Amino acid sequence: MHLIWSTANRPSVTRFSTCRVAPVRGLSSMKGVRVVVVGAGVVGFSTAVCIAEALPFCSVSLLAEKFSPDTTSDGAAGILFAAEFPDIPLERQRRWFKNSFDHLLDIAQSRNSPEAGVMLSSGWQIFKDVPADKKPFWSELVIGFRSMTDAELKRFPDHKFGQAFTTIKCECSSYLPWLHQRFIKAGGQVEQRKVNSLQELSNAYDVIVNCSGLGSKQLAGDDEVHPVRGQVLKVEAPWLKHFIRDGDGKTYIYPGIHSVTIGGTRQEGDWRLHVDEGEAKSIVERCGALEPSVSRARVLSEWVGLRPGRRNPRVEREVAQLRGRRVPVVHNYGHGGWGVTLAWGTALDALGLVRMCLHKMPQRAKL
Ligand code: FAD
Repeated sequence: MHLIWSTANRPSVTRFSTCRVAPVRGLSSMKGVRVVVVGAGVVGFSTAVCIAEALPFCSVSLLAEKFSPDTTSDGAAGILFAAEFPDIPLERQRRWFKNSFDHLLDIAQSRNSPEAGVMLSSGWQIFKDVPADKKPFWSELVIGFRSMTDAELKRFPDHKFGQAFTTIKCECSSYLPWLHQRFIKAGGQVEQRKVNSLQELSNAYDVIVNCSGLGSKQLAGDDEVHPVRGQVLKVEAPWLKHFIRDGDGKTYIYPGIHSVTIGGTRQEGDWRLHVDEGEAKSIVERCGALEPSVSRARVLSEWVGLRPGRRNPRVEREVAQLRGRRVPVVHNYGHGGWGVTLAWGTALDALGLVRMCLHKMPQRAKL
């Protein structure tokens, strides 16, 4: 099915009072340059919005095989914090985190918060053994980060150490449609379509931005990208207000706007997309050990998603030889378990790379 959205048929109810990306000056001679973003998950839509708002003189299209509610991003718990990637300078990771956090904090504190699905969330991350690094690189970027007191830790007898802080929960089942509208409002065009190779796009577009997540395995021929399977349940437990996350990342309880997400699993290289009932039972038991009342919560839904695993996310520019034409390609994929956390930050980096492509473009393509 082909689905085209344009400014003509966009819904008109949503207001975007939160900060827009400032338009870039000095590149207006690039009028009519055609940019395409592949991917409609949180990384694709964040990138597309940044480009469309900052470069209003370009024509920006977004193509994707799947849209909300059928992307991996849709099922993510959407809690903002992160693990360290091994080969990316910490300064860059800190910038990604901070830019995302500040952007989402603006939304959480605006009147758009409920329809965008973005809220503040306070709680605890607890550890069975005291971690070597008690203060992660993002500790100063979230709100009120501190070590838990002995009194707070008392309810978790198997855990020796914990961190208390306020972060953000960004629910992509609302946030993606909200970004979609924001993209349309900025003049973007959207089309539902599977892209079989980047070559397919080389004649119709001047710059290709690849945000296809796990799809980059095939689309960018990147063997480093692999699935990291995650299974979660949504339960009805309105009495739970604080998140609890085991530091091993495998067991968590994240209260959200309409339900509580409990999880989970992290299975490297596992492509299974069906719900495993044995794993669901284990999730309820593990979460019940942290918060006994979980066992009384009604299950609303169960879900499996495949994180786009990679040793490091790939946020870089290359010039590809596609059907005899040299076409600039900006990659932004491979965010693993932290795509919601880092989407806006890496989108701003991708925007910087697109600008670089425009600067380097031969004059005839600029006209
Ligand atoms: P996706 O959401 O997978 O989107 C990829 C897009 O590319 C889709 O639109 C797809 O159709 C399109 N595409 C792919 N190939 C093609 C093609 N050939 N042609 C056209 N279109 C194509 N992250 C956090 O930060 N915090 C969390 O709390 C969190 N919890 C999670 C819990 C679970 C159980 C799981 C599974 C993940 C969680 N994540 C979390 C990770 C997060 O979901 C991912 O990092 C994020 O969704 C990746 O976004 P993406 O846009 O790169 O990919």
